[in-house]
Amino acid sequence: MTIHFPFDNTYARLPDRFYARLEPEAVTAPKLIRLNQDLASSLRLDPDRLSGPDGVEFLCGNRVPDAAEPIAMAYAGHQFGHFVPQLGDGRAILLGEVVDRNGIRRDIQLKGSGPTPFSRRGDGRAALGPVLREYLLSEAMAALGLPTTRALAAVLTGETVVRETPLPGAVLTRVASSHIRVGTFQFFAARQDVEGLRLLADYTIGRHYPQAAESNQPYRAFLDQVIAAQADLIARWLHIGFIHGVMNTDNMSVAGETIDYGPCAFMDTYDPATVFSSIDRQGRYAYGNQPRIGLWNLTRLAETLLPLLSEDQENAMAEASKALEAFSSKFEAAYHAGLRRKLGLLTEREEDLALAGDLLKAMAENQADFTMTFRRLSDAVAGPEGDEAVRNLFINPIAYDAWVTRWRERLSLEPQDGVRRQTVMRAVNPAFIPRNHRVEAMIEAAVVQGDFAPFEELLMVLSNPYEDQPAFAHYSEPPEPHQRVYRTFCGT
Ligand code: AMP
Ligand code: MG
Repeated sequence: MTIHFPFDNTYARLPDRFYARLEPEAVTAPKLIRLNQDLASSLRLDPDRLSGPDGVEFLCGNRVPDAAEPIAMAYAGHQFGHFVPQLGDGRAILLGEVVDRNGIRRDIQLKGSGPTPFSRRGDGRAALGPVLREYLLSEAMAALGLPTTRALAAVLTGETVVRETPLPGAVLTRVASSHIRVGTFQFFAARQDVEGLRLLADYTIGRHYPQAAESNQPYRAFLDQVIAAQADLIARWLHIGFIHGVMNTDNMSVAGETIDYGPCAFMDTYDPATVFSSIDRQGRYAYGNQPRIGLWNLTRLAETLLPLLSEDQENAMAEASKALEAFSSKFEAAYHAGLRRKLGLLTEREEDLALAGDLLKAMAENQADFTMTFRRLSDAVAGPEGDEAVRNLFINPIAYDAWVTRWRERLSLEPQDGVRRQTVMRAVNPAFIPRNHRVEAMIEAAVVQGDFAPFEELLMVLSNPYEDQPAFAHYSEPPEPHQRVYRTFCGT
C-alpha cells in the first residue's frame, strides 16, 4: 500500500547547484513516537494512514513517496560571526512541497535522515533528545501564536547515534513555509554567482513576498519585507521570553519563521543577559541581544543583494542602508506595541514606555519570573486583590508596590472597560511556556526510561498556553532552585 503525498515541488526545479539530489538512508527498526494529526490534515495528508505501519516507513526515510524529489539544500552562513562558505543540509532532506488547505506551499523535510554531501564531519543523524525538544518547542511556539516551523512527526530509528554517549536515534519531520535562509543567499554571494542569486531572489519573492514583484524596485521591496518580518518576529520572541540560542545566519529564515530549534530556551527569571546555550560563551545570542543580532544578520542578507539592488555600487549601498535603517524603528514599534498589550494598555501615551521599562527593571533587580509576573498582572488588572500574588514574585516586594500605583493610575486613563482589558492581557501573557526544567525532565524520561508520557502531557498542556488549566497548574510554576537549568545543549 502506498500513501498519497500531494507533492508539488518547485525548489527542485531550480538549477542543480542549489542542492544535491539524494535519498534518505534506511534505518533498521523505525517506530512512530507521535504524528501531529491536525497538521497532517491541514497538509492534506491522511493522518490514519501516516500513523499506520506504512506511514512510519515514509516518516523515517525508508520509503520515499512517489512524487517526492528528495534534495539536501545548499547554504552557507555566519556561525557566531565567522563565515563558512558551505554548510548545507548535513542531516536533513527535503522531500518536497505540498500546498496546504489554506493554499500555502510548505516544505516537508526529514531531519536526522542520514548523511548528505554537506555532512562534513557529522553522521547526518539526530538523537532522540533534540528531536523531542524541537517537536515540543516548535509546537509550543505555534500554539503561542508565533511564526514557526512545525513538527509533523517524530520517529525512533531503532538505531544508536553516538554523541558524548550512545543515544537512541530519531527522525523529525519538519514542516516549514520554506527552508530558505539568509545563509542560502550567502551561498551564492560567496561564489559571486549573481545569476544564482537572482534566481533565488526571484524564487523567494514569488513564494513569500509576491507583492514585492509589483514594486518598481522588487529586490529592495523584498529586502524591506524580510527586514519587517524579522523585526516583528524578534519582538515577539522578546514578548514571551524566548531565546533562540543560535541566531547564525544559516538559522534565520527569509520567510520570517522561527527555525532550527537547538539550544533554544525560555527565560524564567527576567534578565536581559540570559544565555542558556552551552556554545554561546560570549553571550552573543543572549535574550536582550537578539534584536541587535537580527540586524547584524539582515545586514549580511543586504550585502548579498547588492548586485541586484543597483548596477551602480554606490546606489546599491545607499538602497541597502536605507532598508536596514528601518529595522530599529520597526522592531521598536512592534516591541512597544506588544509591551503595551502585556500591560493591558490599549491606548498609547508617551509615559507608557517608562512605565514598562521600570517594571522590567524592577523584575530584573528582584529576579521576578518573567512569564508569571505578566500572567498574574492579568489578574491584578481586575483590582488590587490580585496584587499579593504578583508582589510575592519579587525578592523585595516593595519594588512592585512602588510600581503598581503608577500602573493603576495609568489604567484609569484607559477608556476600555476592565473585562476587555483583562481579555487582551490573558491572550498575550501565557500561563504556560516550555519551562526548561520540564523540557529536560521530559527528555530524560524518554531517553533513559523510554517513557513518552511526560512528552505527551507537556505537549498537551502547551497546546493551550493562554488557558488556565488548573489541573496542570504545576507546569506553570518556575523551577525550584535545585531544578533550575543553566545550560542547554544542541546535542547535534
Ligand atoms: P545547526 O547547528 O543545526 O544550525 O547546524 C549547522 C550545520 O551543521 C548545518 O549545516 C547542519 O546540517 C550541520 N550538522 C549539524 N548536525 C549534523 C550532523 N549530525 N551530521 C551532519 N551535519 C550536521
Ligand atoms: Mg541550522
